[in-house]
Amino acid sequence: MSTENSNSGKRNGSEVNTPNPTVPLKRSRLGLDGNDASELSVTPLQTRVASPCTLNPPIDSDGLSWPSKGARSRIEQTPEEAKAREERIAGAVKTILNELGEDTDREGLLETPERYARAMLYFTKGYEDNIRDVIKRAVFEEDHDEMVIVRDIEIYSLCEHHLVPFFGKAHIAYIPNKRVLGLSKLARLAEMYARRFQVQERLTKQIAMALSEILKPRGVAVVIEATHMCMVSRGVQKTGSSTTTSCMLGCFRGQQKTREEFLTLLGRK
Ligand SMILES: [Zn+2]
Repeated sequence: MSTENSNSGKRNGSEVNTPNPTVPLKRSRLGLDGNDASELSVTPLQTRVASPCTLNPPIDSDGLSWPSKGARSRIEQTPEEAKAREERIAGAVKTILNELGEDTDREGLLETPERYARAMLYFTKGYEDNIRDVIKRAVFEEDHDEMVIVRDIEIYSLCEHHLVPFFGKAHIAYIPNKRVLGLSKLARLAEMYARRFQVQERLTKQIAMALSEILKPRGVAVVIEATHMCMVSRGVQKTGSSTTTSCMLGCFRGQQKTREEFLTLLGRK
């Protein structure tokens, strides 16, 4: 029960055998909605061990949002320092390739360590994003109090446990309270948190909490459906399995009707 609303979704656990696990939605499908609203509305948000990635304020005074330990040094680095960093990463990648038994002098691999270093810096560029740059001047006063929903935002992220990709779609909804955000910024926000080492639950929660902080809306809902390479390409090898997580805040959390409208608009009901 407690997981259902905060960051529901079970990543690699019991949902493994379900082709399309939709944890927050399953209940609706089963027609069990009737009696659980009161329980849901009192579910505490923090149902897990406190994480600095979501327990700290969503946005720091300098505009960074849950930056990694080294994010500021990445942002402030000189071009020379950037080059040196890239070379250190490439050196480490070369070690990995050698240890795996490869010949890093053969033609196909010659430039791979540097290429990989640049790719990893790109895949993790979200740590450096400043939320003020991301939303720029796209917060507007608007007397609109109906649900805003953007579906099917493509996300590409990296599983922090295996450093391999997980990717899928994010659906973001909110009910404004006099303020709206330019629609493309919702995708930018998702991108900013996806380009980091992540777990899907946290990614979901960070997007919701940041949007909540930026707009102070009446409610926010984020659902992410993703495929994890660490899951489909090794071990259990459940090709095609996907993982669904959700985070509901404000009226999405407290009001079953709002939640249902959201799920209907998502085409889940
Ligand atoms: Zn993983």
